[in-house]
Amino acid sequence: MKLSDIRPEVFPMAERAEKRCEKRFREIDRVAEQNTLRVMAAFQDQRVSDACFAGTTGYGYDDLGRETLDKIYAQLFGTESALVRLGFVNGTHALTAAMFSLARPGETVLAVTGTPYDTLRTAIGLSGNVFGSLKFYGVNYAQVDLAPDGRPDYDAIRAAVSDPKVKGVMIQRSRGYEDRKALSVKEIGRIVEAVREVNREANIMVDNCYGEFTDVIEPTHVGADIIAGSLIKNPGGGIAETGGYIAGKAALVEQCAYRLTCVGMGKEVGCSLNQCRPMYLGLFMAPEVVANARKTGAFAASLFRSLGFECLPAAGQTAGDIITVLALRSPAAMEAFCAGIQAGSPVDSYVTPEAWDMPGYESKVIMAAGTFTGGASIELSADGPMRDPFAVYLQGGITYGSGKLGILTAAQSMLDRGLIKF
Ligand SMILES: *Cc1c(COP(=O)(O)O)cnc(C)c1O
Repeated sequence: MKLSDIRPEVFPMAERAEKRCEKRFREIDRVAEQNTLRVMAAFQDQRVSDACFAGTTGYGYDDLGRETLDKIYAQLFGTESALVRLGFVNGTHALTAAMFSLARPGETVLAVTGTPYDTLRTAIGLSGNVFGSLKFYGVNYAQVDLAPDGRPDYDAIRAAVSDPKVKGVMIQRSRGYEDRKALSVKEIGRIVEAVREVNREANIMVDNCYGEFTDVIEPTHVGADIIAGSLIKNPGGGIAETGGYIAGKAALVEQCAYRLTCVGMGKEVGCSLNQCRPMYLGLFMAPEVVANARKTGAFAASLFRSLGFECLPAAGQTAGDIITVLALRSPAAMEAFCAGIQAGSPVDSYVTPEAWDMPGYESKVIMAAGTFTGGASIELSADGPMRDPFAVYLQGGITYGSGKLGILTAAQSMLDRGLIKF
C-alpha cells in the first residue's frame, strides 16, 4: 500500500473533517505563536550566537552551547536551573534522575496520579527490589490513584501527603498508555496547592513528557519544583537526535547532575559533540512542531469520530498532551490502521507492522512508526496493546501535511479491508 492508493472519495470526507477543526486549529496556532515568542525571547535574552553551535569534545569544560541551552530552558520553564543533555539516553533516564533527587532512604515518594509510566515502574522498584531502584536504596513508594472520573483525587492527595515521611510527590501530566485524561497545567497547579496545604516541604516533580508547549505555561509556572522530559518528543522539535532535560530548583537539578555524571562534577562536564545545533534548532521549531502534532491528532479525531469510532480527547477538545486515543474495537482494525500509518510514513513505508510480545506487557503490542529519529514519537506514530477496547495511541506529525496524509492512508487501509464504509 502507498500514498497513491488513497482513493478520490476519501478526500471530500477529509475536507469535511478538517473543516470541523477550524476553530480548534486557530486555538492551537495561538498557543504556538505565544510559545514561539517565549522561545525567541529566551534565545535573545541568553545571547545565542553561532559560537553556541560549535560543540566541544572530551570533558566538555566551559561548553558555551551546553551552558547557554541550560539557561534558555531555565528561562522558558521559569526555574532556577536546568540540565539539558545528550547524555540522557531517553525520557526515562531524565525522569529517573529527577526521581532520585526527591527523597532519601527511609523517606517516601508518593505518586498522586496513579501508577507512573511503564518504564518508571522498574526504577521505582515496583517490579521487585531491582539493583539501583528507589526501593533498593530504601526509598519507600506510595500511590494515590486518580478518581473514577479520571481527575485527581484531591482529598485523597491531601490525606496521603500529611504523612511527614512523604518528601517527594510525583505527577504525570500526559495520559501515557493509561485510560485517563492528560492533566492541564491548571489542574497540576491545583494538585500543587492541595499538597502545599498540608505539606510545605515535599519536592513536587512532574513527568512532563508529551506536555511541553501544549499550553503557554508549564508545570513549573504553577509551583512544581522539578520537571523532566525527552528531547525526541516535544521540546526537541523533531530535530534533536537524542537527549533529555530536567528543569527546576537549583539544589535538586544539581543532584540530578551528580547522578547523571559524577559526584562533585555535575553540570560542569559532559561534552556536547555536534549536538548543540540540532538541540537549539529543535527547540526553536518545537512550538510549531507541537502544533502540527496537535492538529494531526485533532484531524484524526474528527475523521474517525465521523466514521463511528470513539476518540479521546474528542474532536475539538483541548488536552494537556499530544496523544489522541482512537478506540478501534477490533484487532483487525488496529492492524489495518497501523499498517496504514506505516505506509503513510516517509521512512520504512514498505514494511508492515505486526503485533509482538513486548517485554513487560501483558498483551501483544503493535507499533507503527516510520521516523527519521529512532523511536521519536514527536514524529507520526501509532501503537497500542492488542486488548479491549483495541485502542491505538496516536502521536506526532512534525508537519501537519504529512501527518494528515498518514491518517488518510490509515483510513484507506481500513477501507480496503472492509473495516469501515464511507
Ligand atoms: C515517553 C514517556 C516517558 C519516557 O519514555 P522514554 O521512551 O524513555 O523517553 C515517560 N513518561 C511519559 C508520560 C511518556 O510519555
